[in-house]
Amino acid sequence: MFNMEVKTSLLDNMIGVGDMVLLEPLSEDSFIDNLRKRFDHNEIYTYIGSVVISINPYRSLPIYTPDKVEEYRNRNFYELSPHIYALADEAYRSLRDQDKDQCILITGESGAGKTEASKLVMSYVAAVCGKGQEVNKVKEQLLQSNPVLEAFGNAKTVRNDNSSRFGKYMDIEFDFKGDPLGGVISNYLLEKSRVVKQPRGERNFHVFYQLLSGASDDTLKKLKLERDFSKYNYLSLDSAAVNGLDDAANFRTVRNAMQIVGFMEDEMQSVLELVAAVLKLGNIEFKPESRCNGTDESRVKDKNDLKEMCELLGIEQSVLERAFSYRTVEAKMEKVSTTLNVSQAYYARDALAKNLYSRLFSWLVTRINESIKAQAKTRHKVMGVLDIYGFEIFEDNSFEQFIINYCNEKLQQIFIELTLREEQEEYVREGIEWTNIEYFNNAVICDLIENNQNGILAMLDEECLRPGTVTDETFLDKLNTVCAEHQHFESRLSKNSKFLTDHSLPHNCFRIQHYAGKVLYRVEGFMDKNNDLLYRDLSQAMYKANHSLIKQLFPEGNPAKVNLKRPPTAGFQFRASVGTLMKTCIQSPRQKSLPHFHRLFWSVIKRVPGLMETEGERAGYAFRQTYEPCLERYKMLCKRTWPHWRGPAREGVEVLMTDLQVPPEEFSYGRSKIFIRNPRTLFFLEERRKQ
Ligand code: ATP
Ligand code: MG
Repeated sequence: MFNMEVKTSLLDNMIGVGDMVLLEPLSEDSFIDNLRKRFDHNEIYTYIGSVVISINPYRSLPIYTPDKVEEYRNRNFYELSPHIYALADEAYRSLRDQDKDQCILITGESGAGKTEASKLVMSYVAAVCGKGQEVNKVKEQLLQSNPVLEAFGNAKTVRNDNSSRFGKYMDIEFDFKGDPLGGVISNYLLEKSRVVKQPRGERNFHVFYQLLSGASDDTLKKLKLERDFSKYNYLSLDSAAVNGLDDAANFRTVRNAMQIVGFMEDEMQSVLELVAAVLKLGNIEFKPESRCNGTDESRVKDKNDLKEMCELLGIEQSVLERAFSYRTVEAKMEKVSTTLNVSQAYYARDALAKNLYSRLFSWLVTRINESIKAQAKTRHKVMGVLDIYGFEIFEDNSFEQFIINYCNEKLQQIFIELTLREEQEEYVREGIEWTNIEYFNNAVICDLIENNQNGILAMLDEECLRPGTVTDETFLDKLNTVCAEHQHFESRLSKNSKFLTDHSLPHNCFRIQHYAGKVLYRVEGFMDKNNDLLYRDLSQAMYKANHSLIKQLFPEGNPAKVNLKRPPTAGFQFRASVGTLMKTCIQSPRQKSLPHFHRLFWSVIKRVPGLMETEGERAGYAFRQTYEPCLERYKMLCKRTWPHWRGPAREGVEVLMTDLQVPPEEFSYGRSKIFIRNPRTLFFLEERRKQ
C-alpha cells in the first residue's frame, strides 16, 4: 500500500521546500519566499532538481564538520536535506562506481561563494576517498594549491574581500578504486590591469601585502623592500589593511602551502624577487628632457629604484634604462630607434609590470601542475571543478568586465543546453506528456560577442590591426556602424538585439543586454588591453637577465628568435581558452555524466539571474530510471514479479506500481524509463525493500 507518511519525519523537518521542483505554485515570489524562509533557518542550500543553489551566509555555520561528511557519505541525493556535500557525494560515487567523468560547474555573482564551494567539494572528496600515505600526500598537495593561487590571483574588491581575479578549472584524476592520483589546473585570463592600478576601495593582489606584512626583516632586506605599504605606487593607499584579513598570517600559510606543493627554497626566493621587482618597477618615475629638435625624451628621475630592481633580477641597469627612453622597431632587415616621451615611458613601465606579474602567475600554475600531475599509474576517471570570476556589473565597466561577463554568458549557455534542453528533450524522447517551455536562450548574446566575422571581439581585433590612426573611439564607431547596419538589414542583431543603442548612452560607451542584466561598457582602454603590447626592447632586457626565472618568462626576448608576427590579442586568446573549456564541459554525454551545477546567489533579496528558467523544471520529475534496473531492484515487493518476471521489464514495472498502489499522478511511463515526480515515492519503495 502506498503510504505518503513514510519518511514524513524527514520531510516535515524540512524548512520550506527543499527542492524547488516541488514548489507550488512556482512563481518568482514563491521562489524567493522559499529561499528566504530556508535561509532564515540557516538552510543555505536548496535544490532545483539536481541543481544546488546556495546563499552565502557570511558567517561560519556548523555544517561542514566531519560528522556532516559521515552523514552525507554514500547517501542518496534526495535522502537528506540539501547540501553541497550531497552533490559532491553523488559526483564522487558516479565517478567511482559508474565509471563516469564528472564536471562540477559553479556559477554566481562575485561574492556569492563560488570559491568557497569549490573548496568544500574538494575537501569533501578528500575526506571520503582512500587514506594511504601516498594518497594523503596527493590530497594535501591538491588542497594546498588553493592558498598559493589565491595569494597571487585574488584581491579585495568592493564586492568581495577575497575575489578571484582569474578563472580556474581543476581536473582531479582518480584511479579505479576512487583514490586521487593527481590533478591538472587550467587558468583563464588573470585581471592583470590590477597590478598597476586598482579601482577605488580595492587592493592589488594579496601577495604584495602578505609579503610586506609577513616576511621577516631579513627577507625584506634581501628583497630591498620596506614594510610600509604607502611607499609603493602600485599599492592603493586607501584600502591597504582589510578588516578580517591577516596578511602576515596568510603569508606564512602561503609559504607553507608552497612547500607542501613542492616548491624548492630557491624557487620561492625567485618568486618573491619577482614580486619585489614589480613593486620597485612601480616606483620608477620619469621626467622629460628636451632635445634640440623641440621634442621631449623621457629620462628616469631617481635611479635608486631602477638600480635596486636591476639588482634583484640581475639586469644590467643601462639596458633597462635605455629601454625606458628608446624603442626599436624592427621591420624586415631594418632597425629603427625612436624616442619615448614621458607618457610612453610610463606606458612601457606598466606594460612590463603587468606582463611580468601575469607571466609569473601562469608559471606558478605550470609549476604546480608539474608537482600535482598524476604519477606513472594510468588515470581512470576525472572530476573537474570550475570556479571562475562571477558576473560583474559595476558603475564603470571596462574590458575586464566585458571578458568576465562573456565567460559567464558562455557558462549560462552550457547551463541552458545541458539542464533545460536535455531535460525537455528527454521528455519528448520518452513520450512523456510535456508542454515545452520557452526559456531564455542567450546564444544570440554569445554570438554578438564571439562571432568570427562581426562579433565584438573580432571587430576589436580588426581595429587593433588596422593601419592608420586607431583609437578606442574609432573602435566604438565601428561597433555602432556595424550593429546599426545589421539592424537595417534585419539580421540576427535586429530581431533580438542585445546590442542596445539609445540616446541616453554616454558618447564613449556601448551597452549589452546580458542574461543577468544590462551592462554599460566604457571603451576607454579596450584597444590597449586587447593589444597587450610590450615593447621588444623590454622583453629583450628581461631575457638578458641573469635570473633564470625571469629569463624563462620572456622567451620572445631572445634576439635569435625575433618573430615579426604579432602575438595573439588578449581577446583572441581568451575566446580560444573559453572554447576549449566549453568542449571539456560538454563532451559526449555518453562518456561523461551531466555536469553538476551549483548556482550561487549573493543574497536572497537581490535579483536572481536566470530565475525564470526554473519554470522549465516546474512539475518536472525528480527521479528517473530505465525499466530493467528498476524492476530488478523492486521486484521483491510484489508477488507477481518475484522472483522472476517473464514479460517485458516495462510491464513488470507497471504491475509493480499497480500492486503497490502508487497513485498514478506520482509517476509517468516513458518509452524506456519510469519518471517519478516526488522523492517521497522513492523513499516509500526503499523503505519497503528494507522491511
Ligand atoms: P568572486 O567571483 O569574487 O571570486 P566568489 O563567488 O568566489 O566571488 P567567495 O570568495 O567564495 O565568493 O566567497 C566570499 C566570502 O563569503 C568568503 O570569503 C567567505 O567569507 C564567505 N562565504 C562564502 N561561502 C560561505 C559559506 N558556505 N559559509 C560561510 N561563509 C561563506
Ligand atoms: Mg572566487
